[in-house]
This record gives sequence, structure tokens and C-alpha cells, in this order.
Amino acid sequence: RLYNEVQDLKGNIRVYCRIRPFLPGQNGKQTTIEYIGENGELGVVNPSKQGKDSHRMFKFNKVFGPTATQAEVFLDTQPLIRSILDGYNVCIFAYGQTGSGKTYTMTGPDAARKEDWGVNYRALNDLFEISQNRKGSFSYEVGVQMVEIYNEQVRDLLSSDGSQKRLGIWTSAQPNGLAVPDASMHPVKSTTDVLDLMHLGLTNRAVSSTAMNQRSSRSHSLHLVDLAGSERVDRSEVTGERLKEAQHINKSLSALGDVIFALARKSPHVPYRNSKLTQVLQSSLGGQAKTLMFVQLNPDLSSYSETLSTLKFAERVS
Ligand code: ADP
Ligand code: MG
Repeated sequence: RLYNEVQDLKGNIRVYCRIRPFLPGQNGKQTTIEYIGENGELGVVNPSKQGKDSHRMFKFNKVFGPTATQAEVFLDTQPLIRSILDGYNVCIFAYGQTGSGKTYTMTGPDAARKEDWGVNYRALNDLFEISQNRKGSFSYEVGVQMVEIYNEQVRDLLSSDGSQKRLGIWTSAQPNGLAVPDASMHPVKSTTDVLDLMHLGLTNRAVSSTAMNQRSSRSHSLHLVDLAGSERVDRSEVTGERLKEAQHINKSLSALGDVIFALARKSPHVPYRNSKLTQVLQSSLGGQAKTLMFVQLNPDLSSYSETLSTLKFAERVS
């Protein structure tokens, strides 16, 4: 039984799609979302095209429509998160263009409102609750690191001296399971502790992607990742630092796609080394790790081409 489970877990990747609602000011009539099925089916349509080519169907493990609440999304994420207490490494990330709801799903719009909390806070809250309940039989220590990968450099967002020094990545498994051992580790006992750290970290970040890495006393890591926007940049309009930034983002997102693709196909070679992002996440992608990708969509017709490219990314890995 155990053997089978481990076998099944190889390349264990789940893909959830989440469509955010129209925001005030968007014309809610012009949508690309045509159909949301009970079993993870998603139909999109490009109304500016004719015939059957304008309709496309995709299939996910689950699709959350615009009315899905943070609590509903978390409910389907909770078993995965709890498996960290059974010794699995877990990685959850959100992929999609800027404005598609990645941060909303991972963190939420407002940390002060508990019902708005995203996966990050709910996950940690849940783990703290369980460790309280198991007190006496088990002891869990939880620590948080928060790092930013910006232009292929890894930076500690929680360093006490605000230092900007570049951190190295350990790609072979460390005894303590940490990919970035030199990033400061902050012991946390409650979700409030985590909220305070997140607040500090977010004010220190440049922009783009953050990864939050948490480990228990048995050294299992939970990576919660808010990726940079996946929009493709029109090179003619972007220059200088922005171009460099966009190129780095494209590179790390496509490296992430390649890793997940290789894992999904159970390929013997997984190209972790092609970006800092995939190196940092290596311990929680592949092997016996459990991975969940949220594919985030903006329902607006004007986002059709980005939506399609996001869906094609997802299709490749699921
Ligand atoms: P991203 O991180 O992908 O750039 P955000 O998470 O910042 O996107 O979302 C863009 C805007 O849409 C924000 O104003 C956010 O509050 C809102 N939003 C995103 N998802 C939802 C949702 N499921 N329900 C309500 N508002 C949402
Ligand atoms: Mg964001």
C-alpha cells in the first residue's frame, strides 16, 4: 500500500484553475469564459473569431469560478498542506498574468480581514492548530524564511540588518532541508507571528516573485510562491532595467514550466538547474513532493491572448 502510494506520488502535480471576478470598471459582458464544468472542465471562447476555432476546452483537477470564496479554495488545498505533517515536502504556487489574482489566492487582498485570507495564512493557521492539538504526542517547530528572487539573484527579505547581499543556493539536499541556508530563519508560534513577518518582508521586496519557505522539526519544507506576472513582453516597448527584468522573469517561468513538464511526464532528467527559482524549489518539486499550481485567469475579453497562453502553459504540465 505504502509502496503504491509512493509510486503514485512520483510527479504528483495538481493543477487548479481560478477565474477572478470582473472588477469595478471592467465590462462584465465581454468574457472569454464560456463554460465551467463540475469536474474541472473549462471552456473559453474568443468572440472576435468565428466557427469552431473560437471555442476551446481545457481540463484541470478543479476549476474555481469567480464566485468561489477564499475558504472554498482553501478547503480543496488543505489535505495537500496537511500532508507536510506526514513528511511530505509541499509546493504551492500561482501562475498567471499580472492582475489575474495570484496574490489574491496566495496571500489575499487584506491581511486584516480573516475571511479574505489567502492560502498562505490559512495554511499556517491550520498547521499551528494541528500542532496545538497534537501537543504531548508530537512536537513541531515552525520557522519561516522569506526570500525574493529578482533578476536571478536571491535576497533575504527578513534579514535583520536589511542587507542586500546575494545568497547562495544549495542544490543537493541539506541535512536541514533548506535550499537557502543563509537566509534568516524566524521561529514562529502563531499566525500573528507570520503576519508580522510577511508584512516586514513585503515592505522589503523589490517587486516580482517571493517564495516563503517553512520547515517543521522533521525538516519538511512548505514553499508558498507568489510568482511574477507571466505576460509576454513586447520587446519593442520595453527597454533598460525593465527589459532585463522581463527577460529574467520569462527565463525563470519557462524553466519552471520545463521542470513541471518533465515531472508530469516522469522524465528521468528534470532540468532544475536552469533558473534560481527551480533550484530553490527543487526539494519541494518532484521526488515525493506534492505540488499544486493555481492557474489564474482574468475573465476579460481583452485578456484573451494572455489567457490562452496561460492555459497552454497549464495544458503542457497537466
Ligand atoms: P496578481 O497578483 O496576479 O497581479 P492580484 O491578486 O493583485 O493579481 O489581483 C488583481 C486585482 O483583482 C486585485 O484588486 C484583487 O483584489 C482582485 N481580485 C483577484 N482575485 C479576486 C477574487 N477571486 N475575488 C475578488 N477580487 C479579486
Ligand atoms: Mg501579485
